[in-house]
Amino acid sequence: MQRVHNFNAGPSAMPLAVLQKVQAEFLDFAGTGMSIVEISHRSERYQQLQEETKQTLRRLLHIPDGYHIIFLQGGGSLQFVMHSANFLRRRGAYVNTGVWSDKAMAAAAAYGEVYEAASSKKDGFSYIPRLTEGAIREATDYLYITSNNTIHGTQWASYPKVSVPLFGDVSSDFLSRPIPIERFDFLFAGAQKNIGPAGVVVAIIKDSLVAGANPDVPAMLRYDTYVKHDSVYNTPPVFAIYFIHEVLQWLEREGGPEEMARRNERKAAMIYEVIDDSDGFYRGHADKNSRSRMNITFNLPTSAYEEAFIRESEQHHFVGLKGHRSLGGCRASLYNAVTEESCTALAQFMKTFRKNH
Ligand code: PMP
Repeated sequence: MQRVHNFNAGPSAMPLAVLQKVQAEFLDFAGTGMSIVEISHRSERYQQLQEETKQTLRRLLHIPDGYHIIFLQGGGSLQFVMHSANFLRRRGAYVNTGVWSDKAMAAAAAYGEVYEAASSKKDGFSYIPRLTEGAIREATDYLYITSNNTIHGTQWASYPKVSVPLFGDVSSDFLSRPIPIERFDFLFAGAQKNIGPAGVVVAIIKDSLVAGANPDVPAMLRYDTYVKHDSVYNTPPVFAIYFIHEVLQWLEREGGPEEMARRNERKAAMIYEVIDDSDGFYRGHADKNSRSRMNITFNLPTSAYEEAFIRESEQHHFVGLKGHRSLGGCRASLYNAVTEESCTALAQFMKTFRKNH
């Protein structure tokens, strides 16, 4: 078996130790004599697993009292609908930093007035725009941001302080660094980057926000349904939640988001250094002060070079370096499970490729 250097943008690399543990206990989960995919979501054993998952997340992110952790399906894309169906009464403000915030805003327009409080759209989403004085209009229900922009490779360095509830799509940098939960009223993350397989979304939601949600929304799309039923109103994605449980245990052993932030900083620096020292052969898409530690986006001198780069990278067991179809170019995604060894190998490959071409 040869494991590749996996730079996929999501679904993406998972910690090897977790994959091995999942494999080892796949036929007999915790002495039950059954696989995790064979046990009832109403069983005590599952309830215990889900509770442990929540408690570990609470510890890792220092989630204060007054916030609920819930598990939802439908991906990040359903959250584009749900946040607005539940909470958009008057106006929703959006910081438009890429394809995913654009989509969230478009979905929300079905439920009320939406507007861009700030945007970098006209500049190809190459930076995180500043929120200017007066950017948030009166009668605004919330400000929505995307903490890390998976496609364009930008990331908020610190979060805005605003007088309206702050909502965050933290899908692509969840648990890659500490996050001040108390500054947000609502956060969600699709699992399939840093924390597990596709099929589950983790949301952290303030009690007071849930209480004020629109009561006319169908039960399956209401956050209070998931809160009241502790995420088992219907059958939850048991395997995906179990997998998250294992990733969180791994994260805790490794030193949590604080240690991940240090590693991710070092990993990203290796690749950005190659870009910056390449005399313009590699050109980063993001402005330097908006650069993402998770998704590094760059171009080569021509698309022919880019095609050769992808082709040769695959021959050297690198996977996932092609940019998203909406932006083109190249992208390396360095989520928590991508090792420093893989990043060192990529940096070396990039240097060698430049020398040979
Ligand atoms: N938000 C962000 C930041 C994303 O990167 C993505 C894509 N993985 C989504 C939302 C949409 O997620 P999904 O494909 O699970 O609907």
